[in-house]
Amino acid sequence: MNKIKKILELKNPVSISELDPNFKSEVIAHPDARGLAACFSCGTCSAGCPIHEVFSEYSPKKLAKMVRLGMRKQVLSSPYIWYCATCHNCEQRCPQNVSFFNVLNVLKNMAAKEGYAPSAWVEQTKQVVKTGIVFPTEENWIKKREELSLPSLKEDHPKLKKIIELTGVNKIKPRVDKE
Ligand code: SF4
Ligand code: SF4
Repeated sequence: MNKIKKILELKNPVSISELDPNFKSEVIAHPDARGLAACFSCGTCSAGCPIHEVFSEYSPKKLAKMVRLGMRKQVLSSPYIWYCATCHNCEQRCPQNVSFFNVLNVLKNMAAKEGYAPSAWVEQTKQVVKTGIVFPTEENWIKKREELSLPSLKEDHPKLKKIIELTGVNKIKPRVDKE
């Protein structure tokens, strides 16, 4: 009874017309996400996920189910697909050998191509193109390197720029709506 009450209380239920029947096949067509076809929603991935422990809303099991249901917009626009800490716990514990870590990478690539990349991620990419490192170089790092007689950090990385241009990741635009 409580379960029914909870369902009726949902503010934004997903209408069947919003589902994309091709979404699951598109995801599973990618070699890195093929294993998702074997998922039987046991929840072992979520039980061992350190991010789920901190943010209960983040659940690999739930995301896997949403992909299988065809919830394209809800999955690709979800900030949660970017929460993964890349620890591989889900992959190591899954009884069906689903590498959910790789599934997330497929989802993130799809999300970026469809205009849902978080602005912080796009900024980090720009920083890598510019300096070769993810975070801006701080003045005290430069001084410390000089004190330790380490070589200075190069600002120009033509080979890296070329690789990034070939992947097209430098052309990805950040999502426009609020994250
Ligand atoms: S542990 Fe594997 S089979 Fe179980 S819900 Fe997660 S992905 Fe699916
Ligand atoms: S790899 Fe990501 S989804 Fe999997 S257990 Fe670790 S944090 Fe969770």
